[in-house]
Amino acid sequence: MSAQLIDGIALSRQIRADVAARVQALKERGVTPGLAVILVGDDPASAVYVRNKVKACAETGMHSVLETWPASMSEAQLLARVAALNEDPSIHGILVQLPLPAHMDAHKVIEAISPGKDVDGFHVASAGALMTGLPGFWPCTPYGCMKMLESIHYDLRGKHAVVIGRSNIVGKPMAMMLLQKSATVTICHSATANLKAMTLQADVIVAAVGKRHLLTADMVKPGAVVLDVGMNRDDQGKLCGDVDFASVREVASWITPVPGGVGPMTITMLMANTLDAAERA
Ligand code: NAP
Repeated sequence: MSAQLIDGIALSRQIRADVAARVQALKERGVTPGLAVILVGDDPASAVYVRNKVKACAETGMHSVLETWPASMSEAQLLARVAALNEDPSIHGILVQLPLPAHMDAHKVIEAISPGKDVDGFHVASAGALMTGLPGFWPCTPYGCMKMLESIHYDLRGKHAVVIGRSNIVGKPMAMMLLQKSATVTICHSATANLKAMTLQADVIVAAVGKRHLLTADMVKPGAVVLDVGMNRDDQGKLCGDVDFASVREVASWITPVPGGVGPMTITMLMANTLDAAERA
């Protein structure tokens, strides 16, 4: 039997409608949520992401400021811009698009963002809040994955979740969020000795690696839920995930497609975080 799809586009539409209604309510109280996006350099993929974020702000009624700077900008200049936005009361969320040019220390720049405006959830204060269960901003991609599980009313308690990938922006926060919902969590990475032995035990698999066809049907327990975070290109140049979708969908109970799965949820959760930041402020 073919798995049911978790449709990230439809779910995004629902969440964005709710965000738009809350933005409107906040505006009626005299506050317009504002997001500042800083893009340094001319990476074409980053330019597309940034444009989509600004567009999503407009669609949900938020104010946005897009600052584009040449790759020759110095780190000190960028830090000064972040400091100015930290003080700007019309801005509730600050996002510095990564990757930054090689002469800049991304950690230092992210740490310069006020934790109250860290809507990407990459600041160590946000990571610490997630780790300890305190309120804070959750990184948008794993947050979107959690919303997808919530949308199918999946009870994680006592389930075995296997996260493939341990990056600070996806894999690690994903594992923390699953743990918070009382799943038993295994984190796999490039040094994992036998990935298949791990994934075959999983009730939920989150693939966040960046390698197409990494997860094949023989690695998936029948009935498992599979979330595909990966964004890769196939031989025809079309967007695809880490999961061999055609075969895995015959084994899984639920699966996210690529495109149209986790991707749209990431920007949606950025909107939700920015609204939260404005409501808290
Ligand atoms: P990343 O920083 O490159 O991390 C990739 C992780 O995969 C690393 O932890 C790496 O292990 C692990 N890995 C590599 N090869 C492996 C293998 N053969 N078996 C098991 N694990 C392996 O990437 P990321 O930023 O987390 O992103 C992961 C993917 O998600 C990428 O395709 C990215 O484009 C995509 N992404 C999508 C969205 C979205 O909105 N849909 C958002 C963010 C990222 P080591 O730590 O040992 O190197």
